[in-house]
Amino acid sequence: MDYDLVVIGGGAAGMLAAGRAAENGLEVLLLERNNRLGKKLGITGKGRCNITNSAETERFIENFGKKGKFLYGAITRFTSSDLVRFFAGLGVETKEERGGRIFPANDKASTVVKALERYARSNGVVIELSSRVDRIVTGRESGAVEGVILKNDRKTISSGKTINANETINTGKVLLATGGKSYPATGSTGDGYAIAASLGHTIVKPRQSLVPFDTGNRFVRDLQGLSLKNVEVTVFTGGRKTASGFGEMLFTHFGVSGPVILTLSGQITDDLAAGKTVELSIDFKPALTGEKLDKRLIREFADSGTKHFRTVMKNLLPNRLIPVFITLSGIAPEKKCSQITSTERNNLAALLKDLRLTIKRPRPFEEAIITRGGIDLKEIDPRTMRSKLVDGLYFCGEVIDIDGNTGGYNLQAAFSTAWLAAEACSNLK
Ligand SMILES: Cc1cc2nc3c(=O)[nH]c(=O)nc-3n(C[C@H](O)[C@H](O)[C@H](O)COP(=O)(O)OP(=O)(O)OC[C@H]3O[C@@H](n4cnc5c(N)ncnc54)[C@H](O)[C@@H]3O)c2cc1C
Repeated sequence: MDYDLVVIGGGAAGMLAAGRAAENGLEVLLLERNNRLGKKLGITGKGRCNITNSAETERFIENFGKKGKFLYGAITRFTSSDLVRFFAGLGVETKEERGGRIFPANDKASTVVKALERYARSNGVVIELSSRVDRIVTGRESGAVEGVILKNDRKTISSGKTINANETINTGKVLLATGGKSYPATGSTGDGYAIAASLGHTIVKPRQSLVPFDTGNRFVRDLQGLSLKNVEVTVFTGGRKTASGFGEMLFTHFGVSGPVILTLSGQITDDLAAGKTVELSIDFKPALTGEKLDKRLIREFADSGTKHFRTVMKNLLPNRLIPVFITLSGIAPEKKCSQITSTERNNLAALLKDLRLTIKRPRPFEEAIITRGGIDLKEIDPRTMRSKLVDGLYFCGEVIDIDGNTGGYNLQAAFSTAWLAAEACSNLK
């Protein structure tokens, strides 16, 4: 046996798992296709790396939707406090910000990447860069893991040994930590799905999540760059309300983005993938009921009887939105407020509470922060991250069919599943 464990993928999950398994005494080989480790981790949190969230367990799990309960074992075994202590032990101090988001104190994702690499190396993990795994070899009779084969034609590894094409690196255990398929330039191109599928695993179709959307409304282009705070966004699927969120959204040159949109994006991509029509309703005045808004409009228009409609709109909306509301409401911009009819006022109120956007499609994987879908949870033991189908095969991180909200949840899930898998591999030595 060349190694006790081969970890495929030197991202967040792979580095932590390799380091931990080596700390537990295993001979570990970590294979990464890029020429450096943690390329995606280095750009997380806009370069600041939101490593985790201080939310207590139940709320933490809720941030992964229906599939969250799969993570219960991992998250309770290696909690966000454990992660903070773990990084402190590696010299990375952290700080907590709004919404329980935890970052390295120096705001540098690169510090996190370096710390994990140090952790792996100092525990004796053999790290091979520019080593893309092609497939996992299993025993013809046993069906158990026997090794891995690289895609590279020929490669000299750090021990000085040369590995030729189709030559097996022998191991009894493989941990698949290849990530999802979003931001493929970071190396996460979905290789793990094909590798696992070739061993009989079911892959829940990968879809983009935490992703912006293209919309079908012309006026959106005129709003490019406009950011709105404190709006309520409701998703209507096939005409039925399916989700809603409150907070900040952004208009882009193609459609919509921003925190509320990203939070709702998992639901929206699922609905679109199922062939359903999806509309977003924006409520610009969520603090006012329809009745209160009507009273406010009556007051505004009464106080400004001789002023033009366009001028008074400044009291109600950001400047950039005014032309859009003038067009959609059909009220002439130069109309005096005293002449606005009750029907016109009602139409305006309806628009302020419910501006509809048609969602066409999610932006591509290149722009999706996370991949929804992946290795089917039914085929993984949640207590060990072990494959239920192939002896010696383990999974961790985004390659699993788990995706969470923004706020540090996804990295904690990657780290917790990695820890659990490393412990399980080590116990079975
Ligand atoms: C722009 C952006 C910002 C983000 N910000 C945050 C944030 O602030 N907080 C948060 O919680 N989450 C964030 N995320 C999500 C987070 O980055 C992922 O959830 C996390 O990186 C998943 O870790 P992983 O180790 O499973 O996969 P990855 O980090 O994707 O690592 C997988 C690794 O496997 C390697 N690999 C793939 N195939 C092979 C192969 N065949 N052979 C060898 N190596 C292979 C890849 O090169 C890669 O290095 C962000 C994501 C993006 C894209």
